Amino acid sequence: MFRFWPRRGPTAPTVAADGSVLPGSLPSDALTRGQRVMERCNLLARHSEEADRLTRPYGTPSLRAAQNDVAAWMRSAGMETRQDAIGNLIGSYPGRHSGPPLLLGSHLDTVRDAGRFDGMLGVLVAIAVVEHLHQRNERLPFPVEVVAFADEEGLRFHTAYLGSRFLIGALDSTVLALRDEAGVTLQEAVEVFGGNASALLFPDSVSYSFAGYVECHLEQGPVLEHLQLPVGVVSAIAGQSRIAVAFSGQAGHAGTVPMDLRRDPLGAAAEFVLAVEEAARECEGAVATVGQIAAEPGASNVIPGRVPLTLDVRHQDDVQRHELCRHLETEARAIAGRRAIDLGWRIVEDQPAVACDPALTALLADAVAATGCPVHQLPSGAGHDAVTLSAIAPVAMLFVRCVRGISHHPDESVSLEDTAVAIDALDRFMAGLAQKQMAGPDLQAGGCAEDARAGPE
Ligand SMILES: [Zn+2]
Repeated sequence: MFRFWPRRGPTAPTVAADGSVLPGSLPSDALTRGQRVMERCNLLARHSEEADRLTRPYGTPSLRAAQNDVAAWMRSAGMETRQDAIGNLIGSYPGRHSGPPLLLGSHLDTVRDAGRFDGMLGVLVAIAVVEHLHQRNERLPFPVEVVAFADEEGLRFHTAYLGSRFLIGALDSTVLALRDEAGVTLQEAVEVFGGNASALLFPDSVSYSFAGYVECHLEQGPVLEHLQLPVGVVSAIAGQSRIAVAFSGQAGHAGTVPMDLRRDPLGAAAEFVLAVEEAARECEGAVATVGQIAAEPGASNVIPGRVPLTLDVRHQDDVQRHELCRHLETEARAIAGRRAIDLGWRIVEDQPAVACDPALTALLADAVAATGCPVHQLPSGAGHDAVTLSAIAPVAMLFVRCVRGISHHPDESVSLEDTAVAIDALDRFMAGLAQKQMAGPDLQAGGCAEDARAGPE
């Protein structure tokens, strides 16, 4: 008879007044396991392409070295390891029954001058969860696989999610011809990395079906810290609009053109930046950012002739995001009209929001509640592999509080106690899912996506 590890009884409040988690309320071994994850994050941070900072792009010796460490940890956690055609590392832990596995994991590549937790934390927490099963000689009713994606950040080839896009058979031939800064094509990089470039475009030969994907990731924002919560359950991954805006007027001599005869696009842009801030503040759940702006031609004694700027708008509700974008375009046209300025407005990207699977997310929320922590659901403003994988399977995500919301930076940090809570929550999630499956024929019995078993065709 399949046995679950014992559940604790009702727990005392886990979160201290200062927001730290009280170790005494965690299972006795959770801190030890959290400590191991922290140590492993530190060990992986040694593998970098740059001596004085962490930079680990796809297909590099440093990624290979990180994968070698992770593969060894996977094997000692009872998993068999393999590398797929693009170089993702996958560890599999059999279940009591065969069938599509539940996939846990994250990525091992990094941005330039990265922190040591973005991606790695999710892979190592997943290994900790499987290790726990292995040490207790427990098999869940379904197989579990831990994936360490080889490319999520897109640092080398400037295209994100290569690893997960391959996994679902969503790469096309244009990707193979992408070149890095040294002129090396992705096709060449795949071969050098020990992958199989000729298999990348043939989903039938590489197809991989999985029952669901659950990723633990640091929050990369300040919300959980603000709420003094160690972990949060992701409700959706926000949709994103990227818009190229340009205000064009008349360049001129800063000394000779009177103020009332000017058509200065920088003034219009300044008004617009403030309008963006105000509109996003008034639209609950929205964030909008002007991240790049230039005054052309750009000289201290020249009235600008053209001001291009970028607009990034995100919301977990696509309807509200589109509405906000339309409102901002109307504002921009009104500002330009009042100042006799021309407006360029070009939508560069429109990435729909991805809702996390309600059934998996509810189980994850139950698991967080069982750790004794308050459950808080929040959207992810950043993209993750779950966006890609949601095309073929239900996804869920657990966020871990990150110190001061800092990410993609060497100061990126999570606490040992929060990591321990995340491990505890995922243990409980797996037990809950197993229990649910025992009540039904497969992972989908709990109401997960109908097409979860479908391949990528
Ligand atoms: Zn990440």
